[in-house]
Amino acid sequence: MVVIKKVSAKSVLDSRREKTILISIDTNVGRFSASSPTGKSTGKYEAKPYMKSLDKDIEILKKFTDYFSDENIDDFHDLRRIEDIVDRHIGANSLFALESAILKALAKEQKKEVWQIINPNAKNFPRLVGKCVGGGKHSKLEKKPDFQEFLLIPKTKTVKEASDLSKKIKKQIEQDLKEKDEKFKSKLDDENGWASSLNEKEVLEILKNYDAPIGIDIAASSFYKRKKYHYQNPVLERTGEEQFAYISNLVKNFGLFYIEDPFDEDDFESFAKLLKKFPDSLIAGDDLIVTNMKRLEKAIEMKSINAVIIKPNQNGSLIDVAKVCELAKKNNIKIVFSHRSGETEENILADLAFGFQADFFKCGITGKERVSKINRLIEIEKKMKHSH
Ligand code: PEP
Ligand code: MG
Repeated sequence: MVVIKKVSAKSVLDSRREKTILISIDTNVGRFSASSPTGKSTGKYEAKPYMKSLDKDIEILKKFTDYFSDENIDDFHDLRRIEDIVDRHIGANSLFALESAILKALAKEQKKEVWQIINPNAKNFPRLVGKCVGGGKHSKLEKKPDFQEFLLIPKTKTVKEASDLSKKIKKQIEQDLKEKDEKFKSKLDDENGWASSLNEKEVLEILKNYDAPIGIDIAASSFYKRKKYHYQNPVLERTGEEQFAYISNLVKNFGLFYIEDPFDEDDFESFAKLLKKFPDSLIAGDDLIVTNMKRLEKAIEMKSINAVIIKPNQNGSLIDVAKVCELAKKNNIKIVFSHRSGETEENILADLAFGFQADFFKCGITGKERVSKINRLIEIEKKMKHSH
């Protein structure tokens, strides 16, 4: 049994040097802390990260200490009672950090790993999805690809091998960019992908030479305005139909394995059309679903996706995350646990991904905030090997 005796919270800086929340709980089994990441190309249907502001959430959390200390927390599902206490008082980032700290306390008290609190029978490891080149909202360059992410999704026996292979390819891509991208200065974007000034086709031309399936996150809502997709590199507008034709061509010509958010976040129909045309690729919803039950239900009804991004802090409630994962699994929709563009070194995401038996783990390739999570997954993998 875990009993919370005191809650404290403060703001810390994330990988973008922007403020995010760090929550600590003092319990009968010690002190546990967790922080939340923050998004930049956020979906318009995401839960609010903070109720009024980060500082207000910090203030409010302290006031709830007495309510928390009345609760005995024995297992994952007891998070429900914590959620009832803070319901509508704090935002999704704060709730996620709070629940993460509680899971760490539960794990300690039960002498288990965090993932075992979620699912003691977890056994399959997710496949890594890592960004090697970036554009869109995550890149500061003037000229850049309109698509936000170019991803490597190697298929290997172990997580360690996948991580090593992605690192190696990312290094080789640096050389390619030096040759093909006149403006390239070996600078990184928000998620430690290479910040290139090439356009999406030129980047894909480079990636297709490597021995790893390719993915893209178009984050199309970020350049969809007044019913058109507004491209900058080169400057042109595409209607919904033209966007569909363009994406279809890219999927075909580059054999794309994974396509995230190819259309606006309200356009469930176009997602469905693309999935129908390319049933062997993964059509993933991030801004489309925002880790939300109702939106996933709609996507299932409309057959919009066969993969879903799970970002716990898009929702806040880990009880909801569990439900979303369960519904996805029941409907054969692949689960992709994902980092955010603003990250801390908090690594609980790896335990969550493994505990919820995610099919994929999208968490960059390099950079200490990304690597801490990938290394945690590798550590779980090693421990599992030894226990067999
Ligand atoms: C994404 O769109 O997949 C992403 C990681 O972006 P952000 O964290 O900025 O919402
Ligand atoms: Mg995305």
